[in-house]
Amino acid sequence: MLPFIRSDLAQLIAYQPHPGGTAGSPVQQDILLDRLDTNECPYDLPEALKQKLSWSVQQELESNRYPDGGHARLKQAIAHYVIQSAQGISDSRFITPDCICIGNGSDELIRSLLIAACLGEGSILVAQPTFSMYGILAQTLGIAVVTIDRSPQTFEIDLAAAAAAIAIHPTLKAVFVVHPNSPTGNALSRNELDWLRSLPDSILVVIDEAYFEFSGKTLVPELPHHPNWVILRTFSKAFRLAAHRVGYAIAHPELTAILDKVRLPYNLPSVSQVAALVALSHATELFAVLPEMLEQRQEMIRVLSAQSKFQVWPSDANFVFLRLKAAIADDPAAALDDLFQRLRNQGTLVRKISNGLRITIGTPAENQRTLERLTQ
Ligand SMILES: *Cc1c(COP(=O)(O)O)cnc(C)c1O
Repeated sequence: MLPFIRSDLAQLIAYQPHPGGTAGSPVQQDILLDRLDTNECPYDLPEALKQKLSWSVQQELESNRYPDGGHARLKQAIAHYVIQSAQGISDSRFITPDCICIGNGSDELIRSLLIAACLGEGSILVAQPTFSMYGILAQTLGIAVVTIDRSPQTFEIDLAAAAAAIAIHPTLKAVFVVHPNSPTGNALSRNELDWLRSLPDSILVVIDEAYFEFSGKTLVPELPHHPNWVILRTFSKAFRLAAHRVGYAIAHPELTAILDKVRLPYNLPSVSQVAALVALSHATELFAVLPEMLEQRQEMIRVLSAQSKFQVWPSDANFVFLRLKAAIADDPAAALDDLFQRLRNQGTLVRKISNGLRITIGTPAENQRTLERLTQ
């Protein structure tokens, strides 16, 4: 034990990053791995875009110079994309580059928001199950995490519990929601949206739209009415750039200015900035696979729902969440673990989480193998 380390960090359970790429080889070397555990897009960038990116690195990028710490070009291109992809913005001039803040992944932005709103005084509210990073990052900063439950049938947030939590915890400074939620795939319901709209300006509302390109649902048009809202997005999913770690926040310029104050000055390497610009200028091409992925998701849900052993939920994202029905085993936790291990031994990596499995939609071949292995 290192005596100078904060005692609360000893208890902290860190986020478990998956091995990544072909490194790590968590199962037998000779087996083809279907990596369906982290919700990435199954397709790499098209060859022509990879070449464009390498050309740019070779010809334009000066390795001896610091990156653009103000992310000027990228913020401009993102603002344009945000406007273009949001329907119903009555005053699209609202989204200017000043409304965008760039992070080294949206993870960095989550941390910046926690530092800006809660460090030293506030706590956060999350409804379980949800993305684990909010709670983990809060704990690393010594910020208390208040948790409430969701409906076991629909995974809607228990709004009565939310109201009660806010009433008894005056320190509550931020609420984190995912739209649609991970690992359960449900988009915010009408009631949940009304609740978010009703929250006072003194509470920061973080709406994580990591799966926006799959759901087509966004709260961007409502942002102008809510200076306490911030929307998070990422290039790690539909834009196929998980390796480059680019995320962004959309918010009132006063809030993005604060986020810029608390971040590291050169937080995003030049190569990542170029990669995001290339992806944005070829968004239509990259998104051409989305309809197929959504069809594959519906097919996966249809086939798995027909199996009496599974309970499968609808999904607005690029993954499916399922649980084993209670009646099928004496020890459901052990049965789930067994299923997870058997998939793993056959080369299908999925995420075991919240008493269920979260399965990323992969290529048609991967999905086919997943279905065969799950229905065996
Ligand atoms: C995948 C994901 C992200 C993306 O995080 P990055 O740090 O940008 O890779 C953010 N939020 C949620 C809920 C996610 O599932």
